[in-house]
Amino acid sequence: MSALKAIIHAQLSANGAMTLHDFMALSLYHPQHGYYHQDQVIGKDGDFITAPEISQMFGELTGLWLAHQFQSQQLQNNAILVELGPGRGTLMADLIRAWRQTPLPLPPIHLVETSASLRSIQQQRLADLAEIHWHDQVDTLPDQPLLMIANEFFDALAIRQYRFHHNQWWERGIRLDKDGNWILDWLDLDTANPLPDFLSDHASAAQDDKDQIMTYAPQLAPIAKVISQRIGNYGGAGLIIDYGKSDCFGDSLQAVMKHHPVDPLSHPGEADITAWVDFSHLSHLAEQQHCTALDPVPQGQFLKSLGLLERAEQLGNNAAPDLRRRLVSEVDRLVNPAQMGQAFKVMAILPDAYAKTPQPGWE
Ligand code: SAH
Repeated sequence: MSALKAIIHAQLSANGAMTLHDFMALSLYHPQHGYYHQDQVIGKDGDFITAPEISQMFGELTGLWLAHQFQSQQLQNNAILVELGPGRGTLMADLIRAWRQTPLPLPPIHLVETSASLRSIQQQRLADLAEIHWHDQVDTLPDQPLLMIANEFFDALAIRQYRFHHNQWWERGIRLDKDGNWILDWLDLDTANPLPDFLSDHASAAQDDKDQIMTYAPQLAPIAKVISQRIGNYGGAGLIIDYGKSDCFGDSLQAVMKHHPVDPLSHPGEADITAWVDFSHLSHLAEQQHCTALDPVPQGQFLKSLGLLERAEQLGNNAAPDLRRRLVSEVDRLVNPAQMGQAFKVMAILPDAYAKTPQPGWE
C-alpha cells in the first residue's frame, strides 16, 4: 500500500468516511505524497498533456490576446502578468517570446503555484527569460492592474458533490465496505458544512430531479474573487481555459494516469483527479466585482479566430516535411471538436467598461 493510501485508510478506519473533497485534497495536495508534488506529471512522459505542451502556438496566441488588452486599456505603467498553475512553465515561456515580438514592454511576471517540484521546473525554464515572482496563493498578488491566464488550473481544485434524495441532502464521500475496500457513496450532509449559498440558488432544480448531482469547488470562489477584484478595481483581464460547462449539474469527476482513465479512488497521489469547471460560478463571482465575464467559447473557435491557422502556415513556410506534419497534427489536437477543440472552453473576465467593445475571439 502506498504511503498516501495508508494515510487515507487510517482516516477512513478512524472516522468511517471522508468527503470526496477531503479525499481529492489529500490525493492532489498532500505536502509530501500529493499528486501535484510529484515530478513529471504533465507532458508526454507524464500522466496528461495540456494545450501549451502540445504546441508553442497556444502560449503565443493567448499571450498576444493579453498584450492586446495591455495596449487597448493603456496599462503600460503598472500592470503585472499573472499565471495560475503554470505547470512546466511552457505557456509562460511561449508567451514571453511572443510578447517580445511586439513593441510593448513586458510587465513583471507573477506565478501562483503551490507545488515545490513544479516551481523548480518553472524556475529552470523561465529564469533566463525574465524576472519571476512566485506566490502560494492569489492573496499576495500586488494591488495592480492584472493580466491573468489560467489553463487547466480551475479543474484541479478539489470538489464537493451534493444530491437531494429521499427528502434530504447528501454529500458524496468515500467509506469502507464490509470487506474494508474503499467505495464512493452518499453521506448524510454534515450540518457543519451546509449546502453552499451559490448552490442553494440551484437547489430546487436538483430537488425536482432525483438523479441530479451538483458539483462545487470551494476554493474557486476565493481565488476568482481576488482576481476579479483586481481587474474590476485597477483594470486588466483574465483568460480562463478549461474543460467545463456553464452550470453546476452533473458528475464529471475523472482520474487519468499515464494518459489512460483510471478509477478516481484507485491511485491517490499517482493519478490526476479533476472535474469540469462551472463557468457560471466564475462569471457570477466576476459580476460581483464590477467585471463582465465573456461567455465561454470553444477553444477551437477561439484559437482560430486569433489566427492559429495563419500562424501554423507561417511556421511551416519553407519548413521540412516533418515539421509541417507536426504542425498539422498540433492544430488538429487544439481545434478538432473530437480532440480539445470543443470540450475545452475559453472565458474572459474584463472590467465592465471594456467588455462592451468587441474582443478578439468573441467578435
Ligand atoms: N497550466 C499548466 C498546468 C496545469 S496542471 C498547463 O497548462 O500545462 C495544474 C497546475 O496548477 C499545476 O501547476 C498545479 O501545481 C497547480 N495548482 C493546482 N492547484 C493549485 C492551487 N490551489 N494553487 C496554486 N497552484 C495550484
